[in-house]
Amino acid sequence: MGVEVPALPSLREILNQHVREGDLYEKVDRNRVRCFACGHCCPILEGQPGVCKVRYNQGGKLYVPWGYVGGVQCDPIEKKPFFHAYPGALAYSFGMLGCDLHCGYCQNWVTSQALRDPNAVSPPLEASPELLVRDALRQGAKLLVSTYNEPLITAEWAIAIFKEAKAAGLKTAFVSNGNGTPQVLEYLRPWVDLYKVDLKSFDDRHYHELGGRIGPILDTIRRLHDMGIWLEIVTLLIPGFNDSDDELRRLAEFLVSVSPDIPWHVTAFHKDYKMPDPDDTKPKDLMRAAEIGKNAGLRYIYAGNLPGRVGDLENTRCANCGGLLIRRYGYFVEEYRVTASGSCRDCGRVVPGRWAEKFEGQIADRQFMPGRWVEIGGPASGFPGLTR
Ligand code: SF4
Repeated sequence: MGVEVPALPSLREILNQHVREGDLYEKVDRNRVRCFACGHCCPILEGQPGVCKVRYNQGGKLYVPWGYVGGVQCDPIEKKPFFHAYPGALAYSFGMLGCDLHCGYCQNWVTSQALRDPNAVSPPLEASPELLVRDALRQGAKLLVSTYNEPLITAEWAIAIFKEAKAAGLKTAFVSNGNGTPQVLEYLRPWVDLYKVDLKSFDDRHYHELGGRIGPILDTIRRLHDMGIWLEIVTLLIPGFNDSDDELRRLAEFLVSVSPDIPWHVTAFHKDYKMPDPDDTKPKDLMRAAEIGKNAGLRYIYAGNLPGRVGDLENTRCANCGGLLIRRYGYFVEEYRVTASGSCRDCGRVVPGRWAEKFEGQIADRQFMPGRWVEIGGPASGFPGLTR
């Protein structure tokens, strides 16, 4: 007679054991709640999840992810990318699972689409704010970053970690699609220093294809800037999707209308996930986008993902005198000339951003995995191991 092997818990069952009641919702009536962690503002019936699949209504309360990470990694801050905030700093980066959009070209689909796509399998790892902050300090990190999945939909957990991080003197950041609401931004405001928004297109129809709307994203960009949170924008340039001259011009003009000092990163697409058709972005495409941004009036434009192939577009130059401020190759800071007070060494003009008093070198110019993390459910849970 064969031995009966107990069924392994599903990813859904494991995640449902790692929740707590959320802060970012309201009760609509006895059985319905409305979540406002992201721009979808889902009305959610009893027993149902929201669009993101990770927040759900049970018994008239909204339950949200808590107590795990979907991955942890140490990245150079330039990889997030932030080019005007603490250059060279090590960014201790964590994510959870799930997303409120479903971009076919997602480079983090293993974590972002974990509950939508059966091929996206990522092991959740047991974590606590204290453990994460202790590990970040041990690695020499200057900041903690919520990234890899959409941090807005797991904002309560990120803020619990950021409170601990702030108490330890660390900076904090969100790397996000920007599909926010006024309520979630007020919730984040005291605890988030830096915010990167992925502005994927300037066409509402394109956003619909990705599962969102452009309105909440533009509103988030304006609000973040008005709140004084340091903001950088990234646009992944996808040939034939979002790279027409007209769309790029309108996008850049919008950013200028918020502030010409917002850094804009145009980065190169490479075939991924469900979008194998468009060509990879070429250096000349990035340079064309940068020229459009410059003509619109943006002062700081960077071309990413093609190190050494985009001329001066990896470097920061003074918007007043053109003097070199930071020379980079990929994520590597080769030369640093911003003064202790955050200004140009040649002409004294203040450089917009968040600057350390001193450039203390770079711990790493590429990602690496920090210490040992324990997979929830252990190796027998059926999820591939992630021990480093
Ligand atoms: S985070 Fe967004 S997608 Fe998820 S339940 Fe809340 S409003 Fe809906």
